Amino acid sequence: MTTNHRIALIPGDGIGAEVLPPAQLVLDVLGRRHGFSLSYTSYDWSCERYLREGAMMPADGIDQLRDKDAILLGAVGYPGVPDHVSLWGLLIPIRRSFRQYVNLRPIRVFEGIESPVRGARPGEVDFVVVRENMEGEYSEVGGRLNSGFPDEIAVQEAVFTRAGVTRVLDYAFTLASRRGGRLTSATKSNGIVHTMPFWDQLVAERAASFPQVAWDQEHIDALAAKFVLEPARFDVVVASNLFGDILSDLAAAVAGSIGVAPAANLNPERDFPSMFEPVHGSAPDIAGQGIANPLGAIWSAAMMLDHLGHPAAAKDITDAITSVLAKTDARTRDLGGTATTAEFTDKLIELL
Ligand code: ATP
Ligand code: MG
Repeated sequence: MTTNHRIALIPGDGIGAEVLPPAQLVLDVLGRRHGFSLSYTSYDWSCERYLREGAMMPADGIDQLRDKDAILLGAVGYPGVPDHVSLWGLLIPIRRSFRQYVNLRPIRVFEGIESPVRGARPGEVDFVVVRENMEGEYSEVGGRLNSGFPDEIAVQEAVFTRAGVTRVLDYAFTLASRRGGRLTSATKSNGIVHTMPFWDQLVAERAASFPQVAWDQEHIDALAAKFVLEPARFDVVVASNLFGDILSDLAAAVAGSIGVAPAANLNPERDFPSMFEPVHGSAPDIAGQGIANPLGAIWSAAMMLDHLGHPAAAKDITDAITSVLAKTDARTRDLGGTATTAEFTDKLIELL
């Protein structure tokens, strides 16, 4: 019997709705080849819905997703709707309700895409950023006082828990032991004197259980410089919610195109659905023209298959991405080509 996976599709806004259908086409091909099927339920949750109905998703939205095996998201964002609306109205509730405490961002420099960084050669730059996705600096603890007065003050506390940090470190060390055996932890324990030394201490504690992993720690500022100067030295980089966010965008820029980068919000225990989404936003400047690069969504779909227990199918996708970029000159406009989303997707499927 073929396994069926129930997938929640949230196209969102702008090009979100243009990049998910290509990902579904690719998924269908692989399902036939590797013997699984996917059934989809679509949700119109988006900033457009927020403008219409005052909320990104319905009040029981989280419950509607609960029985799904995974969530595939396009992009959310709309001109005039502040980013915090989509963040706190959709993404953060999903991440927190489903304990998606790992945000995983693979970074690769592909042959055929020019990196803005001179030393970033294809095949050599291949690492992952593991970002803590539920606590840390993204906390609601704090407040503002004396609005408009000279003594106005804003306070925001970062919250790091032993359980929360330990579980993401365990994920990162385990991943490093399966990959290249190296892990780099990013903190700033010279300037931030409580939370960051706590993180460093927990890294050292967890490292004792992974003797096969060579690890080091860097201050975030020095690490940011090394991402640009020597990106090939990294394997698994683990960081707090804020630092991981910044590092993963920096790393995606080093890789050469925002249209290619994928992200996974993982619940490693699999007791709730995980969520997969391209890194790019809704790109209102090109939405509706059928020219968006679908690779970020397609690679995100590969991460979803890996999580659902189909690593060979996932590898078929990343191999096809590598070939279409290295062996053909099919490119969407963001990568200097003229192909439409549909033409480029056809080319990729030919190579699958
Ligand atoms: P949002 O508010 O949803 O975050 P944004 O405009 O701030 O949208 P992106 O959507 O990431 O951020 O777009 C940044 C730039 O990159 C835009 O010029 C956009 O057209 C381009 N871009 C992003 N994703 C793609 C893609 N998949 N294909 C082609 N161009 C893209
Ligand atoms: Mg944006």
